[in-house]
Amino acid sequence: MSKNLTKRSEDYSKWYNELVVKADLAENSGVRGCMVIKPYGYAIWEKMQAQLDKMFKETGHENAYFPLFVPKSMFEAEEKNAEGFAKECAIVTHYRLKNDENNKGKLIVDPNAKLEEELIVRPTSEAIIWPTYKKWISSYRDLPLLINQWANVVRWEMRTRLFLRTAEFLWQEGHTAHATKQEALEEAQQMHQVYTDFVQDFMAIPVVKGAKTETERFAGADETYTIEALMQDGKALQAGTSHFLGQSFAKAFDVKFANNEGKLEYVWGTSWGVSTRLMGALIMTHSDDNGLVLPPNLAPIQVVIVPIHKTDEQLDEISAQVNELVKNLRKNGISVKYDSRTNLKPGFKFNEYELKGVPIRLAIGPKDLENGTYELARRDNLTKEVVAKEGIEEYIKNLLETIQSDLYTKALNFRNEHITEVNTWDEFVDVLENKTGFILAHWDGTPETEEKIKDLTKATIRCIPLDQKEEEGVCILTGKPSNKRVLFAKAY
Ligand code: AMP
Repeated sequence: MSKNLTKRSEDYSKWYNELVVKADLAENSGVRGCMVIKPYGYAIWEKMQAQLDKMFKETGHENAYFPLFVPKSMFEAEEKNAEGFAKECAIVTHYRLKNDENNKGKLIVDPNAKLEEELIVRPTSEAIIWPTYKKWISSYRDLPLLINQWANVVRWEMRTRLFLRTAEFLWQEGHTAHATKQEALEEAQQMHQVYTDFVQDFMAIPVVKGAKTETERFAGADETYTIEALMQDGKALQAGTSHFLGQSFAKAFDVKFANNEGKLEYVWGTSWGVSTRLMGALIMTHSDDNGLVLPPNLAPIQVVIVPIHKTDEQLDEISAQVNELVKNLRKNGISVKYDSRTNLKPGFKFNEYELKGVPIRLAIGPKDLENGTYELARRDNLTKEVVAKEGIEEYIKNLLETIQSDLYTKALNFRNEHITEVNTWDEFVDVLENKTGFILAHWDGTPETEEKIKDLTKATIRCIPLDQKEEEGVCILTGKPSNKRVLFAKAY
């Protein structure tokens, strides 16, 4: 397998597209904007799903499944949500095709099979879930309702990129209902923290936690919490969002509960989601010019073992020893692959696993057999060392943890080096042009100024960081007073 990846410094975007395809993660399909996720890419997604699912269940949520289609009248019920998503909707109007009599072998839409009511292919599921909640909720005893679904959604995006922005994507969407405002707010914040922990501890990606501005808020939400990550090219990526919906969907769908005094009240809601975009974040944060770099916690194969031999006898001897090691590693919960294919050279295999980001590679040849050693190569920093076979299981277990935390530290250092505080418009423009990354600056709090800055520079307010201290200052564009810096960046 030849790598021949474009270098990141030459063309970051080309590097990304080539890497996704060459590392066997995904490819474009016959449908514009829709991707095929290949088995290796899907295996990584499954690891993400498994961990997130565990975290959702630990915080009291259950999985359910709702339909792919939303009747148009339901979709329209929450006006802001409908308006926000209207421009990206795919709509089903008919349910049957028929033979085209003028064009043999072709099919046309049967005009007699028009749906009475058009169906929207869900871009998000509030509009199908809340009418269901109306049936499920009548008393305070039915609350809270804590539900998640793993699903696909469709948003007819005009400019698509593999994983980062696709017209159909896979995600999970949590939808919860509560008796009080406080409880719903706490739920939205809790899930914001769950996403933060997952992305930092499992994906080894540092994030800035914050709230979206009114303009960038989810359509129909009172508050949107976000986690923002910084990619190696200095652009930001929204990695996950958690929304406090207030009572907007309860009011739109008339979802009320009897409180413990028997009085009817509207319920409070949240929704929260992360998508296959996280795969893009993973790739763009850690990978290098040799290919993918995977944090051990999400690597489908954590250790690969490659035999180096000339004769069949040597291979047999190596295999006997390696099979024992494979068993012991698996006992320690480590996923390991022994690649004893004889039709491929070791160098070819080394390349392949480097491209696919396997964190640790062990090689073993006749000399190692004699000496009781393995050659161990780390994918993240490309170092090699000779390791004694005695106690290697423990050594690998510890090393996987070290690699996980080294990757996080490296990404964190990069991110911290690319957060710049600026106080004037000139500085702002200068950083955007020359340094890139996140910029902390004062803003006067108005949507007009936010829009103007976006038009002038393409930079958007990624979030109002939650840990930002109050500080007197003036807006970089208008000079009007501001008491808090917000986080700007050019974003994916
Ligand atoms: P939202 O419902 O808009 O808050 O989005 C939920 C999650 O899906 C966020 O983490 C978004 O970053 C992600 N997302 C939104 N649009 C897309 C898309 N076209 N492709 C992949 N992920 C997306």
